[in-house]
Amino acid sequence: SREIQLASRPEGWPAEENFRLAEAGVPALEDGQVLVRNTLMSVDPYMRGRMNDAKSYVPPFQVDAPLEGGAVGEVVESRAGTHKPGDTVLHNLGWRDYAVLDAKRARVIDTTIAPASAYLGAMGLTGLTAWAGLTKVADFREGDAVFVSGAAGAVGSMAGQIAKALGARRIIGSAGSDEKVRRLRELGFDAAFNYHDGPVKEQLKEAAGADGIDVYFDNVGGDHLEAAISVLNKYGRVAMCGAISAYNSTEPQSAPRNLFQAIGKELTLKGFIASSYNQYAGEFASLMAGWLQDGSVRYDETFVDGLENAPQAFIDLMKGANTGKMIVRLA
Ligand code: NDP
Repeated sequence: SREIQLASRPEGWPAEENFRLAEAGVPALEDGQVLVRNTLMSVDPYMRGRMNDAKSYVPPFQVDAPLEGGAVGEVVESRAGTHKPGDTVLHNLGWRDYAVLDAKRARVIDTTIAPASAYLGAMGLTGLTAWAGLTKVADFREGDAVFVSGAAGAVGSMAGQIAKALGARRIIGSAGSDEKVRRLRELGFDAAFNYHDGPVKEQLKEAAGADGIDVYFDNVGGDHLEAAISVLNKYGRVAMCGAISAYNSTEPQSAPRNLFQAIGKELTLKGFIASSYNQYAGEFASLMAGWLQDGSVRYDETFVDGLENAPQAFIDLMKGANTGKMIVRLA
């Protein structure tokens, strides 16, 4: 069995040399445990924060220890009455071929509702992040105009389509390539722009038109957040989901420079962590299953093959190589 370890802490942009592929034994099972052969694993932007030695809402990864993260696999051996060989499970010990863990931490998933990979994306934490951010954090209401940054990514593409399914007046997305912008239009975004084409503020103003925006779902931070603050209507709301423009930067960010506008416009800016909304996971899962079935929400996936390519997949994710959810397929 192989695993990917953190070889050293990245400074700024991570590189291959920060990671190491290592041989690891498979420990014997204790009572209540399962042995899982991982088939799919998730790479996520939040993992970048865990590579720093900094206090956060999740503890940092340890140097010379394996990384962790969302994964799907097949139970090959079980010493728990709740799980049997052949079960497909979702758990948090990715970045390795085989995982041994307490059965309580491996959730059996129903692959007749959606394929296994969807539980790392639309049907999983990605989807919950988008839905909870929109409805519980940004207090989305029918008729709102919604701007989503990182809109062709995993969370962003869900946030936009969910807003539409819930009756948004207009959904606007930004992304980093013309191809992604075209994809956003196919997914039902009313307007979309490539943030490399010019200042975000000008492009957003044009996309929003005279009616402005009521909700901003922020995956990017920085100049995107500054632009949204300028264009938000009175009583506008921001779900602060992520700030990927800052994750690999070694300098503190200068934007947003116009935060004071929040006063006069009486804006609400609220940060959130998806796992704080876990109590809604059941409600969300049935909503999402319905949307997937009736086609109002569609999801894209970008697959990379091989555990040994997982570090590069993670690096490429932050450079925008993915459309939709970035997933590593294990042999
Ligand atoms: P994505 O699938 O969106 O992948 C990341 C994307 O970010 C890339 O594809 C790239 O797309 C874009 N990007 C990278 N650098 C920049 C930049 N400087 N400016 C604008 N866009 C950039 O990842 P996720 O959907 O998993 O995550 C999206 C955001 O949501 C992240 O900020 C993440 O941290 C956050 N998140 C927060 C959670 C929470 O609980 N609060 C839970 C899950 C995710 P492009 O080609 O368009 O540049």
